[in-house]
This record gives sequence, structure tokens and C-alpha cells, in this order.
Amino acid sequence: MEFKKFGSDRPKRDFAPREMFKGNWKCSDCGAEITELPFEPSGDRPLYCRDCHSKRRDQRFSR
Ligand SMILES: [Zn+2]
Repeated sequence: MEFKKFGSDRPKRDFAPREMFKGNWKCSDCGAEITELPFEPSGDRPLYCRDCHSKRRDQRFSR
């Protein structure tokens, strides 16, 4: 009997830790300190802390 392995050559992608950018920013909304960002901040865009970020997202998707 022979068993073929499916997708054995594919790298697993379960919960790969996201790259975090460390630094010192301030939330454009509430002024909270931001020390980590899941993306590279571009200087001309407002940054939001996690709370404000999710808040804004909620507003957007409200219904
Ligand atoms: Zn904030």
C-alpha cells in the first residue's frame, strides 16, 4: 500500500507570528502611547492605538 502525502511540500501557515514594528508613537485620537505596530507606519498618516483602531472599524461596519 502506498500513501501519498498531500501538501507536504507546502509550508504551514498556522499562526505565523506577525512582524511588529517597535517605536514610540502617539495615537492620533486619544493620545495613547503606541509602542508596537503590526505595520510600518508612514509618517504622513495618522496612527491609532488598538482601541481607537477597533473603534473606527466598528463604526465603519456598524450594520
Ligand atoms: Zn487611541
